Amino acid sequence: MEKLQMKTPIVEMDGDEMTRVLWQMIKDELLSPFVALKTEYYDLSLLHRNETKDQVTVDAALATKRLGVGVKCATITPNAQRMQEYPQLTEMWKSPNGTIRSILDGTVFRAPILLDSIRPVVRNWKKPITIARHAYGDVYKSVGLYTQEPGECTMTFRGVSGQETTLLVQKVDGPAVFQGEHNKESSIRSFARACFQYAVDTKQDLWFSTKDTIAKIYDGEFKRVFDEEYEKTYRAQFAALGLRYFYTLIDDAVARVIRSEGGFIWACKNYDGDVMSDMVSTAFGSLAMMTSVLVSPDGTTEYEAAHGTVTKHYYEYLKGAETSTNPMATIFAWTGALRRRGRLDGLAELARFADELEQACLDTLSAGVMTKDLVGLVETEPKPQAVTSRAFLAAVRGRLEAQRGQ
Ligand code: NAP
Ligand code: MG
Repeated sequence: MEKLQMKTPIVEMDGDEMTRVLWQMIKDELLSPFVALKTEYYDLSLLHRNETKDQVTVDAALATKRLGVGVKCATITPNAQRMQEYPQLTEMWKSPNGTIRSILDGTVFRAPILLDSIRPVVRNWKKPITIARHAYGDVYKSVGLYTQEPGECTMTFRGVSGQETTLLVQKVDGPAVFQGEHNKESSIRSFARACFQYAVDTKQDLWFSTKDTIAKIYDGEFKRVFDEEYEKTYRAQFAALGLRYFYTLIDDAVARVIRSEGGFIWACKNYDGDVMSDMVSTAFGSLAMMTSVLVSPDGTTEYEAAHGTVTKHYYEYLKGAETSTNPMATIFAWTGALRRRGRLDGLAELARFADELEQACLDTLSAGVMTKDLVGLVETEPKPQAVTSRAFLAAVRGRLEAQRGQ
């Protein structure tokens, strides 16, 4: 059979450790035999970022903006321990994901891959719950103050015009702590647009929650901007697709999410998203089955796995072991990118290939062939069999070839 052809390239961002090994295996086994892959390749491995003084990350982000679709392998974010492990590092380079996110002005959406044989801890969840986390400001860009004596804390805003506004935060009678937070209307608006756009693209309802009854000005602004974007741009599209935009208080949202069947996007403020995404992903089963998509307001999309570079498995691999590392989220990053590219370029067959590859993965898992991490989670027959990453990929390839009549 002839390989599928592409028109526009996908931006391919290679990464580190075990996921870099899987990256090549996935391309060799599941992509290149079927698709004449067209990618613009950027090597985001730690040492190459170091050699380029991290310019390669910036270039990859700009390329993604230009071409519209990217796929990224997990990468090391260096810390003190990595600085020792890699003495040649000239700087503790920032998280590539942070750099890419700020250049694309994007919002991260995390969604689990569901299997019939792995039931979520929350029994009534039947469809994925996608968490959209606003990744700017609030407590993550706040200043903290510890004081020891009685006194009062005020907050002053000084405009460029010279006009000043001062508020009393609190008068205290002893040692106290204070915290100053901010957010920007432009960032909230980008977040809102990315959420509405992603809801339209994936045809799912959008839920949004804050605590605007308490934080009337701060959270009230989030609610106001979301309402404004909805009314101005998205109400008609939502109606045409039969979708719902639903705003509620964060505590009410938590209760409703637990009782729901899933199948919607839950937009969360920065801290809520940090906490809720870990809760939701754990309740759905495994971090290795969590996908992550970065979407900018202009529709630029970058796909990746939510997990890291799986360092512990990599050290085993370096000792010559065949590891049983789960490649699902990384495969689904590729299928997400290929499907999006196919749709944007009018290549229905490319989008169909992405569907077929995902189905071949799911069928392989349903047949009980899976990596070690999933085995303990399966509750149904057939009894699962733990295989290496390589054997799993080979089994998926076998199914894909059979499906495509090759
Ligand atoms: P991790 O790579 O996600 O792995 C943590 C543990 O989760 C693993 O040791 C493994 O458990 C399990 N796991 C994760 N993914 C798996 C998979 N695909 N298959 C099977 N098991 C899987 O997190 P980490 O060890 O904290 O971080 C390692 C490096 O990744 C760090 O340098 C960090 O900076 C980087 N990181 C990158 C990204 C990104 O690029 N998006 C995200 C997070 C972390 P067992 O060992 O028990 O099998
Ligand atoms: Mg967290």
